[in-house]
Amino acid sequence: MFEYAPAPESRSIVDIAPSYGLFINGSFDEGKATFKTVNPATEEVLSEVALAGPEDVDRAVGAARKAYEKWSALPGAERAKYLFRIARIVQERSRELAVLESLDNGKPIRESRDVDLPLVAAHFFYYAGWADKLAYAGFGPDPRPLGVAGQVIPWNFPMLMLAWKIAPALAAGNTVVLKPAETTPLSALFFADVCRQAELPPGVVNIVTGAGDTGRYLVEHPDVAKVAFTGSTEVGRQIARSVAGTGKRLTLELGGKAANIVFDDAPIDQAVEGIVNGIFFNQGHVCCAGSRLLVQESVAEELLSSLKRRMATLRVGDPLDKNTDIGAINSAAQLAKITELSEIGANEGAERWSPPCELPDRGFWFAPTIFTGVTQAHRIAREEIFGPVLAVLTFRTPDEAIEKANNTPYGLSAGIWSDKGSRILAVADQLRAGVIWANTFNKFDPTSPFGGYKESGYGREGGRHGLEAYLA
Ligand code: NDP
Repeated sequence: MFEYAPAPESRSIVDIAPSYGLFINGSFDEGKATFKTVNPATEEVLSEVALAGPEDVDRAVGAARKAYEKWSALPGAERAKYLFRIARIVQERSRELAVLESLDNGKPIRESRDVDLPLVAAHFFYYAGWADKLAYAGFGPDPRPLGVAGQVIPWNFPMLMLAWKIAPALAAGNTVVLKPAETTPLSALFFADVCRQAELPPGVVNIVTGAGDTGRYLVEHPDVAKVAFTGSTEVGRQIARSVAGTGKRLTLELGGKAANIVFDDAPIDQAVEGIVNGIFFNQGHVCCAGSRLLVQESVAEELLSSLKRRMATLRVGDPLDKNTDIGAINSAAQLAKITELSEIGANEGAERWSPPCELPDRGFWFAPTIFTGVTQAHRIAREEIFGPVLAVLTFRTPDEAIEKANNTPYGLSAGIWSDKGSRILAVADQLRAGVIWANTFNKFDPTSPFGGYKESGYGREGGRHGLEAYLA
């Protein structure tokens, strides 16, 4: 492989303040305590952010409740104007936002610039279009908003998860208190500024930064009518328990252990690209990642040698470099989890392979890794690793592939690679997964509903279906 010259995106396009307060009722308040957010690629402190306690969350929910009266009474076409305005401002400021997201999260600029930010704008545009058509969404002639939505999002797609949560909530006439993840609060705080620029009425969107406890205060607040959570199955369970019996509406988007199934008639080169995109996109920090490769035995050898050749061309390093394919792992804690599960995989007898790959000295890094010889009993085949680690299993017949694919506590996504449309449809019909990609992987669109079965959660986000969670 020939060497690439560095092609770094300039970080000077975005101003990061030394500290940020909480965004409540249209302005930034000081919080009592603070925490630091770091660039996972360098461990440099980017900013200090307020840590919201119970009183802060209470103020934010109070502001959202007050704003709800007027916001919910606005004609849908008026709410749509604000959402269109937000979408346009996101587009105008997308370079700033992409750099900020890559700095705070560690994801390659190529992804934040070309995937995350265009999808964020698309979500706001899409739901802006629904705001005045709710009566035609299929939820009755006069669907009503619910009230204050308490929304808790993870660190893997900070800005995109914010868009998935806020756009449908506002379009339906709800107001919002959102808690971003502790390690990636900056793009949500930037979004607060976008709301001000769009002259969104104060209190319609409130952002409370903090750790897990802040999320807990929010979901347990009695004046929150609807809870939307994306994150780990463990925390999802705790939230389901705390919300049970309160009358609050709940959607949970949790983990996954998707099977990416390659049949012997699949176009191998395309499948290899799909496998790489399925597991190495966003460092594998993707709930719907294709983390289990199921390959038909007769083509396994050919496919694996192509895959290894392709993996050797992946560039790991500076997220702001436009040539980078794999950026930094989001946090030391996540790196420790990936490292531990990978060691368990090797100790349990699977064969580990990574291409030769130089990792930077500072920051949190993990080389792209595959495990072959994996059985269904191995922990790396059952547990969500949430990193650039692929477990490879083989199968002989379509029935065996389906059985193995469904042998998981999760059910979020799956991929099928085959030349035959009829086979794709027949297999897709028998897979228990919310999203199934055919001859592609990790493709997202605001018009398409997304969500899981079993321990992957319940409720759907995106599309017309995504409105249902915010309407009564
Ligand atoms: P969490 O589920 O802990 O985090 C998701 C969000 O929930 C964060 O904003 C977090 O805050 C918040 N939170 C944590 N505890 C509570 C609580 N008791 N009540 C309300 N909100 C809470 O995920 P982690 O970041 O700890 O990641 C752990 C594992 O979860 C990963 O290794 C991965 O396997 C999986 N994961 C799956 C995701 C998915 O999209 N399916 C996304 C993220 C993680 P804070 O960040 O401040 O702790």
